[in-house]
Amino acid sequence: MRLAEYDGKALLRRHGIAVPRGILLAAGEGLPDAAAQWPGFVLKAQLLEGGRGKRGLVRRFDKASDFRDARRLILPALDDADTPLLLEEAVPIAREIFVAVRIDGSAQRLEVLLAPEGGENVETTAKLARIAAGAGAPATPDKIFAALGKLFPPELAARLARYAARLPEIARQEDLELLEINPLALTKDGNLIACDAKIIRDDAADFRHDPEEFAVSRKLAARAMTKLEREAQALGFQLVETDGNVVLVTSGAGLGMMMMDLIGDHGMRAASFMDNLRGAPDETMTERLKIARALAARPNIKAIIFQTTLASRSLAERIEALTAWLATEPLPKPLFVGIAAGHAAARKMTAEQAVERLRALGISAFTDPVALVKAAANAVR
Ligand code: GDP
Ligand code: MN
Repeated sequence: MRLAEYDGKALLRRHGIAVPRGILLAAGEGLPDAAAQWPGFVLKAQLLEGGRGKRGLVRRFDKASDFRDARRLILPALDDADTPLLLEEAVPIAREIFVAVRIDGSAQRLEVLLAPEGGENVETTAKLARIAAGAGAPATPDKIFAALGKLFPPELAARLARYAARLPEIARQEDLELLEINPLALTKDGNLIACDAKIIRDDAADFRHDPEEFAVSRKLAARAMTKLEREAQALGFQLVETDGNVVLVTSGAGLGMMMMDLIGDHGMRAASFMDNLRGAPDETMTERLKIARALAARPNIKAIIFQTTLASRSLAERIEALTAWLATEPLPKPLFVGIAAGHAAARKMTAEQAVERLRALGISAFTDPVALVKAAANAVR
């Protein structure tokens, strides 16, 4: 789950990290009295995307009376006029620094990143310190300081090392995949203040946290979803609608991506990507097919490709459930089924037998995913 800046800063504040004073404004809300005396202002659109500065969605102004102008400049750049805005007291920034904690996927541990030139162009900087932050070998201030080398003047490096050393523990407690502060502002009077927060929490750890928390982020994520994507979520799986002409029904991200590529290689485009929400345990075939049926009713959709790959769950039962489901109501577009089954799954019925069984019922079925996609491509043509 990606947190909106406002929610991300609330999380940081909870852990004692300094963030600017701020007030969340609903669309259309004026400048609140509580902010009238602030010495300067930043108005920031709350989206679940970065790069807002470059898109004109972050506006700095000095006088309270300039609030309306700032808002008027932001609104045309928004897709949704209901986007909430965060009004903050402007921080007098002397230097913008980049600091982050993320999961180093190959080493399977957290790492701390620090760069001396934060801000909007951080992607282009070559100067970046990376410090491993394993649970048994934490990124201590000493270790971080040593890794900073000549990136910062020594006194600032020492302060940053102490600052950054606290972040991995926050990431652990909060189950974060990413905790990025960019810019971390060094103010003119020498304070370190987190001026932006990009925080992603591991969805698999949701059950450990308050489901009501981070309401702004939840609302933004829900608003960005289509009706069917929301329905799919309620049914227990993830759907991403894409612009395409073939409905793809799979589970597991790797298989889904492979099938999307195969479909693309054969001159078609997948109109959907599906994955389980909670890993393998949930069986959602009929739910996924139900959503596929709704998608396939659209005129631009020409075919449905359903690839099922079973490791241990019984293929015989899967085919039983599939044929029973198909018998209830015809599908609006031709269906192409691919079947792969591991040894345990194929005990009562092999993939070849399943294909025979489906073909006997007039359903195009294959054990080879390439043959499957080729057949669908012929039908679409
Ligand atoms: P992003 O572009 O979506 O990452 O949005 P940011 O929150 O990082 O804002 C973009 C840029 O606006 C930052 O890199 C800063 O240069 C500037 N900015 C943001 N907040 C403040 C602030 O309080 N004071 C000052 N002077 N600049 C700010
Ligand atoms: Mn930023």
